[in-house]
Amino acid sequence: MKLSIHGAARQVTGSMHMLEVGQYKILIDCGLDYEKDHNIQVNENFNFKPEDIDVVILTHAHIDHSGNLPTLVRMGFNGQILCTPPTADLTELLLLDSVNIFLQKSQKNHRNRKNKYQKNSGPQPLYLQKHVMDTVERFVTIGFNRPFRITGDIELTFIQAGHLLGAAAAVLKINDEGIEKSIAFTGDIGRKNYPVLNDPEALPPVDYIVSEATYGGRNHTKDKSVEETLVETIEKVCIKEQGRLIIPAFSIGRTQSLVFALNKIFSSGLLPKVAVFVDSPMASMATSLYRKHHNLVNPEAQEFYNKKGDEFEFDNLTYVETLKDSRQVSNYYEPCIIISSAGMLEGGRIQDHLFYNIQNYYCTILFIGYCAKGTLGYRLLRGDPIVHIKDRDLAVYATIKKTDVLSAHGDHDDLVANIKSQDSKSLKGVFLVHGEESSMQALADTLEQDGYKVTIPEKDVVYEL
Ligand SMILES: [Zn+2]
Repeated sequence: MKLSIHGAARQVTGSMHMLEVGQYKILIDCGLDYEKDHNIQVNENFNFKPEDIDVVILTHAHIDHSGNLPTLVRMGFNGQILCTPPTADLTELLLLDSVNIFLQKSQKNHRNRKNKYQKNSGPQPLYLQKHVMDTVERFVTIGFNRPFRITGDIELTFIQAGHLLGAAAAVLKINDEGIEKSIAFTGDIGRKNYPVLNDPEALPPVDYIVSEATYGGRNHTKDKSVEETLVETIEKVCIKEQGRLIIPAFSIGRTQSLVFALNKIFSSGLLPKVAVFVDSPMASMATSLYRKHHNLVNPEAQEFYNKKGDEFEFDNLTYVETLKDSRQVSNYYEPCIIISSAGMLEGGRIQDHLFYNIQNYYCTILFIGYCAKGTLGYRLLRGDPIVHIKDRDLAVYATIKKTDVLSAHGDHDDLVANIKSQDSKSLKGVFLVHGEESSMQALADTLEQDGYKVTIPEKDVVYEL
């Protein structure tokens, strides 16, 4: 069989891997490469014919794993897309949001033309809503730990990966011309004891692993729990300073885990009930999907639900739906916590909240996730004294803080442990993807010291397994 890496080779986004067993071609993930955001059209440049792919396996809903599926379908892919039930639902939500983002960018370019007769030269939407609908009708859902025969020679099992509701590692058992082979694609690996999500499950013994490497060479700080960090910050910002705490958060996944952590804090009386606003219509929709797939939340969240009720609802929590209500949150002068998207501050309602609060000495902005270079979040974290928001240059007087307690990725030690659960003698090869080159190298160095055979694959190169 043959393995080739068509995306997330020596970079984080755009996960896309191909496994060929004889003539049968399986694509594992088809993510959007947004590191080249200035030219989204690079995502159309598949190094294979989309119509030649027989089946797609989707590890999880995040857009860097799923966001190029509608392009694949638009350009001729005609097979099924295999994923877990929550992944099917969350992916639909995220792909429709992608269409909105493409359209907004296209409209912005249109408005920025020097004159109204100039042709719109900006990027055209990569795909439209109809392509998303063509994509989601190809989903075939498979539960965790339920072996599924793709062909007579290929069997797929999804293993829980933590990270996001429905996120899976894909384990394939293959009969390759009479020889039994096995390979695991980790997708993104989550963390232990993460609010709402189950711990990542151990992989069965396999011959090959294609592993993510996002946090290679870096470990999360572990001196404080999620709740301890939140209590300390809220106490300082909202109780002592009577100010407001703004938490930029991705609407799907991060927001639900944050809301549950806050629910635990307020319901146990650790802090007085500060008003909490979740200002993102997509977060409300995603929360309904977390309720729908409640059988897959972790035992702690199940127990909380049984004893105290809905883990995503509490007295002092408001889900803000309309834009009018969102503006009222900006005018709310009591101490409060505002959770809003987008996580990297590029667009979304968070921009309004920043616009009105970035010059407020009594405001703290707490970053809980990664911010890519070039984003407003990145510039604030870098310590820029003046930032550009909504066509205005504004001096930053608010306090900027960052914590990694809610990072949804396992760190260096977690990634190493995941691979070391395999015997170095029987594991024939580890391929590292989904990471900066330095992260992959750090991970490779650690694993090679213990006798693992590690490859940092080149994009589009075919590896015989
Ligand atoms: Zn992910």
